[in-house]
Amino acid sequence: EQDPRISKISSVIRVIPNFPKPGILFQDITTLLLDTKAFRDTIDLFVERYREKDISVVAGIEARGFIFGPPIALAIGAKFVPLRKPNKLPGEVISEEYSLEYGTDKIEMHVGAMQAGERALIIDDLVATGGTLCAAIRLLERVGVHVVECACVIELPELKGRERLGDTPLFVLVSSA
Ligand code: AMP
Repeated sequence: EQDPRISKISSVIRVIPNFPKPGILFQDITTLLLDTKAFRDTIDLFVERYREKDISVVAGIEARGFIFGPPIALAIGAKFVPLRKPNKLPGEVISEEYSLEYGTDKIEMHVGAMQAGERALIIDDLVATGGTLCAAIRLLERVGVHVVECACVIELPELKGRERLGDTPLFVLVSSA
């Protein structure tokens, strides 16, 4: 049985066709943030799932993982680590490349932000092809961190991103056609 909070959350996510380019149905979570009940419920649903899972670090993916990650981290007593686009972090970084439809991109993390043996949760707003989450998992695993789960507000199941994550579980609140 689906939690009654989910349908409300789904209903306040705005879908904008042809942004940022033709053919893309952009899932806009800024309208979810305007609904204080739905925003709180979103955070609560993640907190309820992760509070007893012994997670020491929440890693948020730039940019919208920076919106959902920190309130979850604070509520479960974990630290927050930003995974950023290239050349944004000022300290020493390790980075992981991933492929896009055209070309490649990279995510970076500060060296020393996580220690080997830590248990992490990775947060983003949405999983499409799974390329971004897959790179984030590789990045954390390279420093000996165990990724307990990836969590997103929205999944686009037709793009089969879930299948790219290997053994790492994916939890989402809303599946969008
Ligand atoms: P992917 O690596 O293909 O799974 O893409 C996921 C990343 O791209 C996430 O950080 C999303 O915020 C963003 N993204 C991809 N597709 C969409 C979409 N249709 N609407 C909103 N954001 C998207």
